[in-house]
Amino acid sequence: MEAKLQEFENYLKKMRALQMALTLFSWDMSTVAPRAGAPSRAPYIGLISAEQFEMLTSPVMEGYLDYVEGLGSDASEIWQAIARNLRREYDANKKIPPNLILEFSELMATAQPIWEKAKETNDYPLFAPTLEKIIGYQKRFIEARGYDGHPYNTLLDDYDQGMTVEKLDAFFSELKETVVPLLKSVVESKAQTDTSFLAPVDIATQQKLSAFLMDKVGFNSTYGILSESAHPFTTGFGKYDVRITTHYYEDKPLSSMYSVIHECGHAIYEQNISDELAGTPLENGANMSIHESQSGFYENIIGRSLPFWQNVAGEVGSILGGSYAGVSAERFYAASNTARPGMIRTEADELTYSLHIMVRYELEKEMISSDVDVSKLPGMWNDRYEEYLGIRPANDAEGILQDVHWSGGSFGYFPSYALGNAYASQIKAAMAKDLDFDALVSSGDIAGVENWLRAKIHGFGMLKTPEELIVGATGESLNAKYYTAYLKEKFEGIYGA
Ligand code: ZN
Repeated sequence: MEAKLQEFENYLKKMRALQMALTLFSWDMSTVAPRAGAPSRAPYIGLISAEQFEMLTSPVMEGYLDYVEGLGSDASEIWQAIARNLRREYDANKKIPPNLILEFSELMATAQPIWEKAKETNDYPLFAPTLEKIIGYQKRFIEARGYDGHPYNTLLDDYDQGMTVEKLDAFFSELKETVVPLLKSVVESKAQTDTSFLAPVDIATQQKLSAFLMDKVGFNSTYGILSESAHPFTTGFGKYDVRITTHYYEDKPLSSMYSVIHECGHAIYEQNISDELAGTPLENGANMSIHESQSGFYENIIGRSLPFWQNVAGEVGSILGGSYAGVSAERFYAASNTARPGMIRTEADELTYSLHIMVRYELEKEMISSDVDVSKLPGMWNDRYEEYLGIRPANDAEGILQDVHWSGGSFGYFPSYALGNAYASQIKAAMAKDLDFDALVSSGDIAGVENWLRAKIHGFGMLKTPEELIVGATGESLNAKYYTAYLKEKFEGIYGA
């Protein structure tokens, strides 16, 4: 048994080496590589990905998976989890005929530039035929892979194991009932937040603020760095090398501040994975929505809380200087929680964010389950914005063309953003039974909060399923009530709604 597992371990190490090379290329391209340098790099990136795909879907891999699965409970918990995760990936890729994958990757090579052009020139009809083809392939993939219940479930499961249309319908209907009227009363409230002190801040000063915040929330800079990119993200090569990025806007200093805290949440999660999982395929976050729950926890539950501002207002004020100096914790708190409906998801505040996701969820479900006429999608999009957010996009560039996801073939991805926020509130409620969150955060003892998260979530990496993790940490499955209660309490407090 030992010899066979040793062989499998070596095989996985080689796959990991290929993955690391791809991750490094991707980090490099998003940060410092010359954009025009693609011709020198692309063929080799293609070769490495093909090699990695081959290893993942080969009969050799299937043999190893069969072997470990055959051991049953004689295999260690770690091996069982490795096999469970790899089997999911193997099946997802293996069941789709290779010619379909090839055709789709050819379509993908042209889809993104077409979408970019369509967005730039506000020309949805330019993108519509490509979108129609992409939807067609999603349906063929689902046919090939099979599904339980609703066909969309297969795609949802890719980003959040076990997630179904049934669960999400219930989740979003709870949000619709609570958040839509709450937003309406916030918009109509006479108590609007004071943002008059939010003057532009030069980039060098914002960089100082980033360093302060990273240290404050517990990012381990010995094993991580901060860089800059067009869109902030986190990438990891294992727990001892986790990298984050931000994007600075002189006129919007809070934007980078909260991106940094958000990405720190992703990074701290990965830095805290238990040592026994280091170097294995389990050295990663459990899945997309759990990862987003940790970034959301740091960004919103900690970073946008009054106790956090009570701790940092003085220092943030003195780092930023000018109109920021001496601003009270209460004013910072209110300004950083300003809620108002807007067209653009990536600029949305905590209250309206999930409504943007709800629109995308409903449209994706429609696209996957029926023969939707793609020319009708912009109208469906705009109607929903009007219904949920009370505003109507003036054109498709600020409407249905705004996100990159569909042109990249990512369907089923959006809900994990909203689920991440919902999980974060549920985790906060469970945490509050064990410790005094407000006292810890207002005294600057974020490590006290981090220790709880490490013990209940971070340490496990991919060892447990997302469902096991959430039930283990909070005592129950996804329950939207914590999220809606949290939003109600917070925004009624700020807006006196
Ligand atoms: Zn994130």
